[in-house]
Amino acid sequence: MAEERDFRDTIEAFIYDYPVCEFFYLTPDDLVFSDKVRYICENECARYGKCWACPPAVGPIEKCIERCRSFKHVFLFSTVAEVSDSLNMSACVAAKNRHEEVTLQIRDRFREAFGDDVLALSTGCALCEACAYPDGPCRHPDRRLSTIESHGILLPATAQKVGASYACTSETVVFFSLIFFSG
Ligand code: SF4
Repeated sequence: MAEERDFRDTIEAFIYDYPVCEFFYLTPDDLVFSDKVRYICENECARYGKCWACPPAVGPIEKCIERCRSFKHVFLFSTVAEVSDSLNMSACVAAKNRHEEVTLQIRDRFREAFGDDVLALSTGCALCEACAYPDGPCRHPDRRLSTIESHGILLPATAQKVGASYACTSETVVFFSLIFFSG
């Protein structure tokens, strides 16, 4: 219990520096995994096979799930963006990119606090206008964030299980990230 209180205190000393809406302290057992998520990536996502941060480049689903399960703790957080119209693609992409930047900054704070073995999953990498995949190496391997789904995690089911607000409106969008660490 003392250890848990310690790492929570450490996180709460910096997390309020960021525009985080909600956060939750979880373990890998709280996440809803399914290897069927990869089928959805393959059949329903336009980024499948087009980015180093997405399947199949991220590796087999079993390995991704195993890596997630290898950590002791998971920090789930969300940011909320106000947009003039949630169907406006460019406004949503700009908001998503801000969430990615916040996630990278928070990921780096976790590394400072808990060591380099920290895994951040978020909404997917869009750092480059055109991804170098598959012809050249990733241009920013340490800033590349894979999607939560790429690691076999069912985000809506996980959010519902832990009580995270998932609802978007016509003027707000919610983005989630997971930070895995062992402390
Ligand atoms: S940093 Fe660039 S090259 Fe690397 S995964 Fe992201 S978009 Fe692709």
